[in-house]
Amino acid sequence: MHIGIAGVGLVGRVLALNLLRQGHTLTLFDEDTAYGDKAAGMTAAGMLAVFAELESAESAIFEHGQRSIALWPALLAQIGIEDAYSQEGSIITAHPQDYAELDHFIEALKSKVEEASEIELLDKAGITALEPDLEQHSRAFFIPQEGQVDAQRFMKATSDYLLSHPSVTWHQEIKVEEVKEGQICFAGVCETYDWVFDVRGLGAQDDMSDLRGVRGEVFWLDAPEVNISRPTRMLHPRYKIYIVPRPNNRYIIGATEIESEDKSPMSVRSSLELLSAVYSMHSGFAEARIINMVTNCRPTLKDNLPAIIQGEKLTCINGLYRHGYLLAPAIVEEALSKGILK
Ligand SMILES: Cc1cc2nc3c(=O)[nH]c(=O)nc-3n(C[C@H](O)[C@H](O)[C@H](O)COP(=O)(O)OP(=O)(O)OC[C@H]3O[C@@H](n4cnc5c(N)ncnc54)[C@H](O)[C@@H]3O)c2cc1C
Repeated sequence: MHIGIAGVGLVGRVLALNLLRQGHTLTLFDEDTAYGDKAAGMTAAGMLAVFAELESAESAIFEHGQRSIALWPALLAQIGIEDAYSQEGSIITAHPQDYAELDHFIEALKSKVEEASEIELLDKAGITALEPDLEQHSRAFFIPQEGQVDAQRFMKATSDYLLSHPSVTWHQEIKVEEVKEGQICFAGVCETYDWVFDVRGLGAQDDMSDLRGVRGEVFWLDAPEVNISRPTRMLHPRYKIYIVPRPNNRYIIGATEIESEDKSPMSVRSSLELLSAVYSMHSGFAEARIINMVTNCRPTLKDNLPAIIQGEKLTCINGLYRHGYLLAPAIVEEALSKGILK
């Protein structure tokens, strides 16, 4: 089939990799360049927090998350970056005055899915054995099944792969005006395909009335004095932060969650909260260098859950909210199983 895809963000790329494996020919459209940074998928930390996200999500997220974790290694192998995936578990901790909150958080997870019983309580010795740099903490939980995808490497490697693939035509910097049954319209013309996908994320707002953006801000820090190897969260009554390690002592610190579609630069309040929280986690961050501050919006539906909307020669996938990396492989698999490939 000749398939048109509107939007080459996270979902568009996962979709393209799946469709190419099945032998289809693809025409891709994005309003950004292939290496641009407009997609939320470019901003994401790439955490596969299948348990930690459960506190504020439904158990359907858990099932899709587990399926995605099984699918990620093959997707990354397809584009030659197997090492952009790691699954060495994650850590959740808190300051001593917030231990009740930490215990409550874990109890909430355990009440939602049976598998959460595998979450381990760590004392000071247990924390130090896993992450020596977090030795100042005396209570934490270890979630062995969680992992991460290096989101920025995934985005770059998919650009390289798709641009050089003989079955792909990629129209860059083309704003799609409308996606309808078997057609993608831009610059006043509509092109016809055997099937089309609308995966424009927040860009599909004109066609999905309950789609909203949820602002998220992250820091990138260069911290030679910090050696944390696993995604680590700190719970706090007002804000929750995470530290996601990348090679060469680089860390993503995030993320705010603000009901706003404003993509302007990070606010003073957010920067104070994120940086003071991360410094309180590890004093080695005091001398870290701020190498980037990024803002983007998560495409989110009313119920904060993803949706697959199937029409005649048209599939829309949207609403992946804060779970794009956690869910995209499984959601795409589900969409393809009920759509053109059934
Ligand atoms: C700060 C932050 C941190 C995050 N961290 C995580 C995380 O740790 N783990 C996780 O699982 N998820 C995370 N996410 C969520 C994840 O990034 C999103 O769920 C995911 O990117 C949504 O994918 P998408 O393809 O629907 O949208 P996007 O990735 O935004 O892609 C949409 C694409 O459509 C294009 N487009 C839009 N309108 C048009 C148009 N009219 N014409 C042509 N092209 C168009 C855009 O340019 C873009 O390339 C995070 C998000 C943010 C903002």
